[in-house]
Amino acid sequence: MNKIKIALAGNPNVGKTSLFNAITSSAERVGNWHGVTVEQKQKTVFFEDTQVTVVDLPGFYSMSTYSYEEEISRNAILFGENDVVVSVCEAGNLARNLYLALQLIEAGACVVVAVNMIDELQKKGLILDEERLSRALGVPVITVTSKRPEDIKRLMTFAIKHAGVRQKRADYLRDLPITEVVDLINPYVGDVNFNIEFLAIKLLEGDACAQKILDLPQSIRDRLSLYGDFSSKVAEARYGFIYKALDGVIARSPENKRHKRKKPFTKAVYATHSLSKFDIYDKESFLQSALDKIVLNRYLSLPIFLLVIASMFFVVFGSFGNFLSSLIEKYLINHLYFWANNAMQSANLPEYLVSLVCDGIVLGIGGVVGFLPQVALLFAFLTVLEESGYISRLAFVTDGFFSKIGLSGRAVFTMLMGLGCSATAVLTARGLSNAKMRKKAVLVTPFMSCSARLPIYATIFSAFFVKNKPFLILFLYLLGCAVALFWAVIFENTKVLKSNESLFIMEMPPYRIPQLRSVMSALMENIKSFLTKIATVVFAMSVIIWILSNFSLGSGFIVPGDNSKSILSV
Ligand code: GDP
Ligand code: MG
Repeated sequence: MNKIKIALAGNPNVGKTSLFNAITSSAERVGNWHGVTVEQKQKTVFFEDTQVTVVDLPGFYSMSTYSYEEEISRNAILFGENDVVVSVCEAGNLARNLYLALQLIEAGACVVVAVNMIDELQKKGLILDEERLSRALGVPVITVTSKRPEDIKRLMTFAIKHAGVRQKRADYLRDLPITEVVDLINPYVGDVNFNIEFLAIKLLEGDACAQKILDLPQSIRDRLSLYGDFSSKVAEARYGFIYKALDGVIARSPENKRHKRKKPFTKAVYATHSLSKFDIYDKESFLQSALDKIVLNRYLSLPIFLLVIASMFFVVFGSFGNFLSSLIEKYLINHLYFWANNAMQSANLPEYLVSLVCDGIVLGIGGVVGFLPQVALLFAFLTVLEESGYISRLAFVTDGFFSKIGLSGRAVFTMLMGLGCSATAVLTARGLSNAKMRKKAVLVTPFMSCSARLPIYATIFSAFFVKNKPFLILFLYLLGCAVALFWAVIFENTKVLKSNESLFIMEMPPYRIPQLRSVMSALMENIKSFLTKIATVVFAMSVIIWILSNFSLGSGFIVPGDNSKSILSV
């Protein structure tokens, strides 16, 4: 039987995980949070007569690495022994996505380009000429959508067919002194077994990792530095090549021809919505998006953000959320209580056992399960915001403000995720490029009120100030944010954690209508983890508290209703 290994590589949000799930029929989480695919995921499946190992890599922009995620992906390309690397691109964002594809080819990988989300292009009445693009790039190109099973089959057949076929780098870098640098570093390559021309390009780009890998003597470094910094030249050459290759590749589909223009599209169509360090060409057209003009507006962005957050809180913690909670209490917990009580009484079980199960466990767990609707609603909102592309813009909007206190836009993600669960949020900080910023984000994120604190807030406020509960909870959430920001400022102004650079590479995905399926799957995942905590921690605590409040040190079990002698009240 044939065995091959396929790696899925590409920018964030191009649909790698969706393809991975479709190929391996698994349900990994898709989404726009950075850090969703932090570690590479790997799964082996059988396709016809081939055993295929598929690897889903974290999204990355460049083979020069800035963050931990990017390093994982780069190393997987360089050392992963892949038979074929599928460079996943998004039909609406080809120019930028191909920028990475070129680097994969430069690195000496066996590359095929898969243009995903072709359905979105087709919806606009456009078609992409695979063959023309393939010829221009010198790489096999296939168009797919991760939603169509037949496309997945086609993609697999295509990848297997091209496995092991190494593409030659096109000569857009001919002005670089690559051969000279290769001669210079050749004696020092030793057993580093990857493409030496790639190393030479990276050195010319001033890539720190390439220098580390090679461990060159000072004399060679000095000679290299004489060449100067080619990084912007290289970027320009790559983009120049890409735009030439893309010219005329997208056209109106024949049935759509009678509309307006006959000429093939150029630049403007590719440069739909993207803004990143590398996207020097795309900025203007990106700003044309009318929605972005409002959402990213200097004066409107913050009010819009507050409005979104506030309406979220009023639905979740206001009367709607409370109504759902009361339903659970009324119909689930109370019924369960009476049913268990009756059943155990009629079975003549000892009174302490009945009390343990009913008063201790059922009511203890019930008190927390009641919050499930609210937690679920909160996550549903966050997922919808995330899927729609708003959260990515939020990080962009806040970047100016946050960089003043030494947190990049990416750190906002981590902190916002802290609203869901601090433990998960802290994990996503691994995507931050700057080590000090990463530490800082980890230190301040726990101040954000995580969902587990919601039951506590709500209980306290229900006991004291029933009327203004939503306001007070919102206040506590804001207080948490304020404390987090306060510490960020303190950390920034102590020398220890001052982050002096803010490398802003941000994904700006197009606005999308959130898909019910991915919202539901994110929701189920969060509900599962919430229920798991209830089944373990809350269960144990309920038992302990029951024991403490129903036993006295002297005389053991006390009759329910007379708890004044219990351990807890002593
Ligand atoms: P990754 O970051 O590359 O792993 O991308 P994901 O798999 O998380 O997908 C990002 C978003 O694109 C999700 O909202 C997906 O539902 C959406 N998506 C993925 N594939 C397609 C596709 O073929 N067509 C459309 N319209 N959307 C897609
Ligand atoms: Mg992913």
